[in-house]
Amino acid sequence: MEKPIYTINKIAEILSAEASIKNEDYVITQLLIDTRLILQPESALFLALDGHRDGHLFIEDAYKKGIRNFLISERKYLIKYADANFLVVNDVLKSLQKLAKFHRKQFDLKTIAITGSNGKTIVKEWLCQLLASDFNIVKSPKSYNSQIGVPLSVWQISEENNLGIFEAGISTVNEMQQLEEIIQPQIGILTNIGQAHAEGFASETDKLEEKLKLFKDVEVFIYPKHLAAKFPEVTLPGKTQFSWSGKEPADLQVIEKIIDGNCCFLKAVYKGEEATCRFPFIDTAHIENGLICWATLLSLGYKQQDIVSRLTLLSPISMRLALKDGINNCTIIDDSYSADISSLIIALDFLNQQNQHTQKTAILSDFAETGHSNEQLYGVISNLLQKRNVQRLIGIGPNITKNSYLFPATSLFFPDTASFLAQSRKLSFNNETILVKGARTYQFEKISKVLTRKVHDTVLEVNLNAMLANLQQYRAMLRPGVKIMAVVKAFSYGSGSFEIANLLQFHGVDYLAVAYADEGVALRDAGISLPIMVMSPEEYALEAMIERNLEPEIFSLEILKSFMDLLPDAETQFPIHIKLDTGMHRLGFNADEIEELGKILTSSKKIKVKSIFSHFVASDAEVFDEFSRQQIEQFTRESQFLISKLGYRPILHLANTSGISRFPEAQLDMVRLGIGLYGFDGACKEAFQRVATLKTTVTQVKELLPGETVGYHRIGKMPNGGKVATVKIGFADGYNRGLGNGVGHMMIANKLVPTLGSICMDMTILDVTGLDVKPGDEVIVFGENPKIGDLADQLNTITYEVLTNVSQRVKRVYFYE
Ligand SMILES: *Cc1c(COP(=O)(O)O)cnc(C)c1O
Repeated sequence: MEKPIYTINKIAEILSAEASIKNEDYVITQLLIDTRLILQPESALFLALDGHRDGHLFIEDAYKKGIRNFLISERKYLIKYADANFLVVNDVLKSLQKLAKFHRKQFDLKTIAITGSNGKTIVKEWLCQLLASDFNIVKSPKSYNSQIGVPLSVWQISEENNLGIFEAGISTVNEMQQLEEIIQPQIGILTNIGQAHAEGFASETDKLEEKLKLFKDVEVFIYPKHLAAKFPEVTLPGKTQFSWSGKEPADLQVIEKIIDGNCCFLKAVYKGEEATCRFPFIDTAHIENGLICWATLLSLGYKQQDIVSRLTLLSPISMRLALKDGINNCTIIDDSYSADISSLIIALDFLNQQNQHTQKTAILSDFAETGHSNEQLYGVISNLLQKRNVQRLIGIGPNITKNSYLFPATSLFFPDTASFLAQSRKLSFNNETILVKGARTYQFEKISKVLTRKVHDTVLEVNLNAMLANLQQYRAMLRPGVKIMAVVKAFSYGSGSFEIANLLQFHGVDYLAVAYADEGVALRDAGISLPIMVMSPEEYALEAMIERNLEPEIFSLEILKSFMDLLPDAETQFPIHIKLDTGMHRLGFNADEIEELGKILTSSKKIKVKSIFSHFVASDAEVFDEFSRQQIEQFTRESQFLISKLGYRPILHLANTSGISRFPEAQLDMVRLGIGLYGFDGACKEAFQRVATLKTTVTQVKELLPGETVGYHRIGKMPNGGKVATVKIGFADGYNRGLGNGVGHMMIANKLVPTLGSICMDMTILDVTGLDVKPGDEVIVFGENPKIGDLADQLNTITYEVLTNVSQRVKRVYFYE
């Protein structure tokens, strides 16, 4: 295929745009929607798209960075830059799509399109791995599957490609047709169709019909067999249809599934021929995605034996980065799967959120980015590292090494991962944050392993994206201007300390609250600069608090006096927070003390009342709503009285998580958000996204004879014998003893199994009779199933306690994408 050349005039013509062209010489290769991603400004066209922020607001920044070609819809930006080319259209997004459609038509390229509710990205990445030896593939980066992502993906097609693999996702009606016209696929894969989240669609059938528009003209359509029975009224697309199923007869039908340790053996029949494939994973979703790849390879004409040997090499894909404890007091950001500019920016932004170490190091492999010279590519990377304050680079791979002159002299280079590992003991890593980011082929997981402190086999996984999504949910419930104080007491409800605070600080919460002074000290020492309120300031810690600018909650006249005595300067105006007792009767000023409090507060300039607050007794419980309303009323009365004495208005706050949703009128100036960040609204209900998953592993498996018992005092009885598995978590890790004797359950090999006998200090014994379980197998203690709420119910307690009881011995790992 001839390479199309897009002069700025040519683009104007394709788009029928109104053009203000000052210089005709520009040839465009990059479509740019984010000014952080500039590779080569002279060949980029900046698209002022309406995202969550209006792209026109970034024109100035783009211009400063050397961009001279702009596609806009707001005419007023035309006049500002005399030497830049402007194309004006009605709708920038439609124009991007139009351009992508034009580009697609220039190539006679075979393309595979993938859609479905889950698994699109994994199936795409796996197909690329499986077919890489036979094709020069162009694919969607990451999960670029939206109205913007798809045209940008298709724009990457170049003359050397002979296969395209693109994913498409939609959220509402009338979106898929556009994506079909852009991708023009010959092979269509529908991964599955989820039941939930039909928002944007009138019915499940509507959603399916909309999705199938992607496959309007495909030759081959690959789909799950059960679909046909479930939606008999829907006509399936494709000249040829290829179905797969784990149960019923289908073109590719699984007839046996055996889970063996961490592997799954699938036996399936195609045209009467049986074949068995070994997958190196056992979870249902991965197995299904593997089966979809199998079906796709068959429909592309590959032979069973060849396919089976390729599928064995698949590995689970993680698109997320993980934050872990490293050796020598380092923090490791493990992103050992991808190496492209846009994911580098995400990783560097995450690196930059980390305040606990000033020293930052990046270990990067060669990058894959088509359409640009190596010099441009590594120039951009060098620039990004410098802007994000990364002091040290370790580059691994021939290309990054060849371009070493683009990086600071302190950088180190190695031809491959093995030579880095051979030298790694001699390199010093100390008290720094290290980003480990490489293309899959570089196997950087080996590097992470060397740099990470050995993680005990029981880990609490914390999903930072879920936490951010929950934060957004509550933000959306607030009246405009209401501030958020994030409550991060008790190691952020057991999830971490600076790791969570860094995230919340970066994402713009206004305040943090901790319970005790030492929690605040730890956050300050880890570089957290947000204002921090300490809710139970101990008298002996007041000096340390003053030193670190930690703001005490003042709940009695005694503590107020002690604190004022400690403040040296008469004019310090040290920020304090006044707690009123409106019914909790835990801490706070009683009604009859307010008068006196007002007098003291106005008598001195040593302190300044930053906020006045109180706490609901039962904002989550309807039966106490009357009492909650009385609390609001009392708080309003008393705080107004204090304000009238003070002569200024401090921040007023009252609502905790369930107060935010249940008493919007009590949002006042600020809310205190705690358990809501973890997805719980109130004591038990899991309302939003799940943040925490507690996992452990099997240490030993035993077969027992009838009548034998397990554990202390022979409590765990096995009248009929059976199989037991010992796992590495006990009451010292926070797995409550009340969960013993079958009260609690854990998930193992996709089955919920009961505990047997008493919970020990460091171990628990599970009844795994009839299951195929081996040492090293993963066990879910809580997460998707069982849920934290299940454990709370079994223990007759609340989710707060289950979460915060996970002991500090259990390592925390943070995921972010
Ligand atoms: C713990 C706490 C909160 C947070 O409560 P959630 O129910 O977790 O949102 C708010 N205010 C005070 C005073 C607290 O002690």
